[in-house]
Parts: sequence; C-alpha cells; structure tokens
Amino acid sequence: MTEKTPSKVNMEKIVSLCRRRGFIFPSSEIYGGLSSCWDYGPLGVELKRNIKEAWWRAVVQERDDIVGLDTSILMHPQTWEASGHLQGFSDPLAECKNCHQRWRTDDLEGSSCPACGGELTEPRMFNLMFKTFMGPIEDMASIVYLRPETAQGIFVNFANVLDTTRKKLPLGIAQIGKSFRNEITTGNFIFRSREFEQMEIEYFVKPGTDEEWFNYWLEERLNWYLRLGIRKENLRLRQHMKHELAHYARGCYDIDYLFPMGWAELEGIANRGDFDLTQHAKHSGKSLSYFDEDAREQLVPCVIEPSAGVDRTFLAVLCDAYDEELDNEEIRVLLHLHPELAPIKVAVLPLSRKENLAQVAREVYADLRQCWAVSYDDAQSIGRRYRRQDEIGTPLCVTVDFESLEDRAVTVRERDTMNQIRVPTETLRTTLAAKLAGEALFTLPPGGKIWKEERKQNPG
Ligand code: ATP
Repeated sequence: MTEKTPSKVNMEKIVSLCRRRGFIFPSSEIYGGLSSCWDYGPLGVELKRNIKEAWWRAVVQERDDIVGLDTSILMHPQTWEASGHLQGFSDPLAECKNCHQRWRTDDLEGSSCPACGGELTEPRMFNLMFKTFMGPIEDMASIVYLRPETAQGIFVNFANVLDTTRKKLPLGIAQIGKSFRNEITTGNFIFRSREFEQMEIEYFVKPGTDEEWFNYWLEERLNWYLRLGIRKENLRLRQHMKHELAHYARGCYDIDYLFPMGWAELEGIANRGDFDLTQHAKHSGKSLSYFDEDAREQLVPCVIEPSAGVDRTFLAVLCDAYDEELDNEEIRVLLHLHPELAPIKVAVLPLSRKENLAQVAREVYADLRQCWAVSYDDAQSIGRRYRRQDEIGTPLCVTVDFESLEDRAVTVRERDTMNQIRVPTETLRTTLAAKLAGEALFTLPPGGKIWKEERKQNPG
C-alpha cells in the first residue's frame, strides 16, 4: 500500500482539479482542443463572476470617484494608431532553423532553441494584435483589430463620461472585458492565453498630483488581493526598471504572485502621464481637455492605470486556496476560498434519501437558494459528500438528519475546521449569513449548540 502524504500545490494538481470538478475545460475539447483557449465550466463561471463582482464592488460601487463603462471590442482602427499599438505592440520572434518552433526571444535564457538546441533565425518584431475584416469585403480598408486591452475604450470615451456625469477630477473609469493578444508563446494553463479578460481602471488626475495617486493605487490594489484572502507572502510589488518602461510612462509597478512556476505578474499599475489623452486628441482632432474651475484653466489630465487580469487572479486564487491534509488516513483536498469568492456558498445534504427527510431538506434548499448559490447533494456517504464540497471550497454544509424531523434543527459544518453546530431551521438563514460574513462558528444563535468539535483551532 502506498503511503498517503499531503503535498504542496503544483500546476498539474490545479489543472486536474479544474478539469475534474468543472472549473475549466480545454476549449472545443471534442475536436482536440484549441491551443491556449479555455472554457469556464459551471463552477469556474461562478468563481470568475465572483472575482469580477468583488473588483467592481471595490472600485465602482463603494466609491463615488469611479464610474463604469462597457465598450465594444472592435474599435475604429485609428484608435490603435493613436495609442501606438500598430507601431509598437510587438514582441521579438525567432524561429528555430531545425525544429521550426517559434519563440519570443526576450523571454529566452540563451540564444539557441529551448526545445532542441538548434540555431534561431534573427528575431523580427511580431505585432500581437489579431486582425479581422469588417463587412463583406476583405480589403485593406476593412481591417479592424480585436482590442488587445480594454483601456483604449475608456480613453476614447473620456469626454462622453465627463459630459454626462458632470464629475470633477480625480475621476476614474473602470471596465471589465475580453482582450485578445496573439501571444507568440502561451502556457501555464490560463496564465497566458490569447483570449482573456481584463479589469482596468483609468484614474484621471490633475497634473502634479499623479505621483501621489500612483502611490495610493499601489497600496489600494495590493490590499484588494489581501482582503480576498491571498497570503501576503505570496504577493510582492516589483518596480519596473528604466529600460522596461514605455517612453511615456513615468513609473510602473507589477503586483506579482508566487505561482507554482515562480513569481509572475498579476496586475500592472502605471503612471501614464497625459500620453493617451494627448494622442487621441491629436489623432481625432477633438479636445480631450478638462476645465479646472479652481485654476480657471484647461488642462490635460494625467492618468494612473491599475490593470488586472481576471484569469490570472482566478489562477492565483485557486493556487493560494489549494490545500491537502491528512484526515483519517485519507488525503482531504480542500480549497480555503474566501466565502465571497467560493462558487457555492452552502451545500444542503440530507442524511438519507427517505422521503420525509428529503422533503425537509428540499424546503431548506429552496429557501437558501433565494440568498446564495447553494447545491443539493444526496449521493453516497455523508463523508464523501463533505469531501466533494471541501474540494470545491464550499464554506458551509447544512446536514438534515432524522433528528431534524423532531427538533426542527440542522447541523452546520465549517469547511476549514470541520467543526459543527446545530441550529434551529428558523434561524438558519441569519446564522449562515453571519458565518459567511466572518462570524466565528461557535458564536451561536438562540437555541443553537456546539455539535462536534473536530479541531481545537482553525488551521488557516
Ligand atoms: P506580460 O508581461 O505577462 O505579457 P503585460 O505586462 O503585457 O503582461 P499588461 O499589458 O500590463 O500585461 O496587461 C494587464 C494585465 O492583463 C496583466 O497583468 C495580466 O493580468 C493580464 N494579461 C495580459 N496578457 C495576458 C494574457 N496573454 N493572458 C492572460 N492575462 C493577460
């Protein structure tokens, strides 16, 4: 018999959990999949929505200086001329003369092919924008691009937002949406793909205050990840060196996460000066300035850009939450997901399928579904059902047993400690709401009692 020992997270485990439990599938899998494209399954779509909602709440809903926007993926081609993407959004690409694999040379350690050691061709610049045609005629005049970032949709709408909201500086505009980059090399699961989602803020400020706001956003964004439960030791801020900065950028930091393959960018935060608005004003011939009532003058705002990836946050959240522990000679796999992010908040588990019990359990299930994403599971032993919920990060399980028919009470089990309390069904909703908001499990509602103390302390 092989000894079972818990081990650390690695990418294979995450990919396998995602496939097995329906978080993420390879795109068009029945046709063999499409390189670096991924489909989010029933649990994945919930986790992804929760990440986006947590971001939107933090940057739009809870603030009065940022408004939202949802712009189209296809934009006027001149946008990309003004932004510099047509000329400059490229990576150096070289091909191996032996095996013909293509590589991004600024990523390579040596000067030969990493796959076979063969000689590489001279690198040429390869533009990362996807091209397509608008309308029925495929000629030069009908070329449009799939946006490589959501930011430009914000810049071209700056005046529209200013006019319609009558907001004053500092003013932020936030957008979540798909972006496309024809990356030369993809990989590390959803870390680098060709179609992905971004969450971007363009925060417009008066020139001269940009440095101060830049520092503010570095702290604010780092704290957002910490609030969602990502461990501090797995996050770092990395300042860009002078040679890494775009010519117009006044400063840039990455928020890096310690992924299984090493430290890598989760979010970029840049002080872009007034480059973008100035460029679009020049190319469009429209004024994109702001009238400062205090100084009674027109000015072109500077912009701070915190630009995060939904998919990379998803991957970081999963890697950070993944855990294995020994429980009764078995490995218990669990995701310590923050309740706000967990795809399923509560699982209702009837101890048996007997009709009288199932009826009560279904009533509880119907009631709780009005508040949260709840699942109902009556297949196999209760132990296996708990394990299934642990593995997808469900914070709380509600078990309906035969005593419930007598005392109109149910047990509530906590994922991380496996401790259980018993509470009257009439207080169940408020109890669950309090626990999901962070209340200690053993803080009991009227009529509640401790049922089972599995651990002395919460290991998390
Ligand atoms: P990298 O250096 O990893 O290519 P980048 O610096 O080009 O990233 P930005 O242009 O700053 O990335 O984009 C902002 C954010 O969008 C990134 O921090 C990342 O979270 C996300 N992102 C960018 N490219 C991809 C991609 N190909 N796949 C998934 N997410 C991406």
